[in-house]
Amino acid sequence: MSQVNRVVIAGAGIGGLCTALALAKQGIQVVVCEQAPSLGEVGAGLQMSPNALKVLRQLGLEADLSHFAFVPQHAAIRDYKSGEYYLKSPLGTLAEARYGAPYWHLHRADLHRVLADSCKRAGVELILKAAVTGYREDPERNQVFLCLDDGREFGADLLIGADGIRSKVREQMLGQEQPRFMGQVAWRGVIPVSDLTVAVKPDACVWAGPGRHFVSYYLRGGDYVNFVAVEERSDWQSESWREEGDVEELKRAFAGWHPEVSDLLNAASSAFLWALNGRDALPTWHQGRAVLLGDACHPMLPFMAQGAAMAIEDAYVLAQCLSRYPLAEALTNYERVRKPRATQIQQLSKGNAGLYHMHGGVLGKMKLNALQAAARLAPRVIQSKLDAVYGYDVIAEFPPLQ
Ligand SMILES: Cc1cc2nc3c(=O)[nH]c(=O)nc-3n(C[C@H](O)[C@H](O)[C@H](O)COP(=O)(O)OP(=O)(O)OC[C@H]3O[C@@H](n4cnc5c(N)ncnc54)[C@H](O)[C@@H]3O)c2cc1C
Repeated sequence: MSQVNRVVIAGAGIGGLCTALALAKQGIQVVVCEQAPSLGEVGAGLQMSPNALKVLRQLGLEADLSHFAFVPQHAAIRDYKSGEYYLKSPLGTLAEARYGAPYWHLHRADLHRVLADSCKRAGVELILKAAVTGYREDPERNQVFLCLDDGREFGADLLIGADGIRSKVREQMLGQEQPRFMGQVAWRGVIPVSDLTVAVKPDACVWAGPGRHFVSYYLRGGDYVNFVAVEERSDWQSESWREEGDVEELKRAFAGWHPEVSDLLNAASSAFLWALNGRDALPTWHQGRAVLLGDACHPMLPFMAQGAAMAIEDAYVLAQCLSRYPLAEALTNYERVRKPRATQIQQLSKGNAGLYHMHGGVLGKMKLNALQAAARLAPRVIQSKLDAVYGYDVIAEFPPLQ
């Protein structure tokens, strides 16, 4: 046992709340400090793959979340103009049978609300308007103190930095360094199905086009369609990393695309625009009594739809390590298990940009054609790539101690 009785967490995003819940269920006292004045999630939909669903199930959330889920039938990659399929891999009941948990689409707000309610029931203390500026260690008292901008401090045996890509905990641990603009921006929006005239297929669909791609999928039992429109850009003018985007600019950028895409964009009256940022692999994820988790230590391009899934896996592994080992050993083991997995998914995500954006002109189109041929002639090869991501079973790797 790590003898960690009290933990303080910076950030009440999906990673922070999952960790808080997992620890509270182990009888640990947990305080979460969130800078926002109210709980919630900015953004729209999330694809939740079976590897993450297994953790949410283990945390007792599957039944509550099932009311808000949509089950996609396929993971598809289609041509931006003709709609031709380069890939159509079954999800739905087949994914559940293959991976032992479903593949769902969830609205972020629904997942976040279910997590926050479960945290409160489990006795987690959630403190809002609590902007973290850093931390200090007190080795004499074997304590770490989380420091807020209003001068308050919260002492604990362990501090978890789940405060996202601009983590203050990371900054103090490893020094100031701005995240790197990855040369891509993403518009995101949600459209009520009642506003559409063209039926959208019930798939998790990537529409691949030159220099940009578009993702569409249903949410909330099929009442809404979520879209993410990604465009390559050489620079990002704004100070902010997300802002209200100009919908007309979005429509112009994707003009002439397939009718399923055009109809969605015609119905869009607003959309948020995000700069997609990243970081190089960090030299370490922990130091003394402080440890990082989720986007704070491994932000990734969203092109595998795995960033939140990785934060959820992190949460489970960190809680399990703390229940098995003394603190220093727990943190070392957590990083040892999680870093290779997160790094692999980061690289796969980056690689998909080239595929989805037809990099290299004719060559890019050839890559998609090769994928299409492989999916037809050697479906097992394609399947094995998805299996490595969705079939990963972190619960089997670390069965909960009784
Ligand atoms: C366009 C797009 C689509 C995506 N789609 C998917 C998908 O389909 N599936 C998937 O798994 N992932 C997806 N992701 C990735 C996913 O959104 C992130 O990886 C995930 O939200 C990271 O969670 P987190 O809790 O680590 O960080 P965050 O969500 O960034 O949460 C950090 C929290 O900390 C708080 N905070 C920050 N600084 C401070 C501070 N100083 N003091 C106190 N609180 C602070 C923030 O307010 C926030 O609440 C997508 C990302 C993008 C950009």
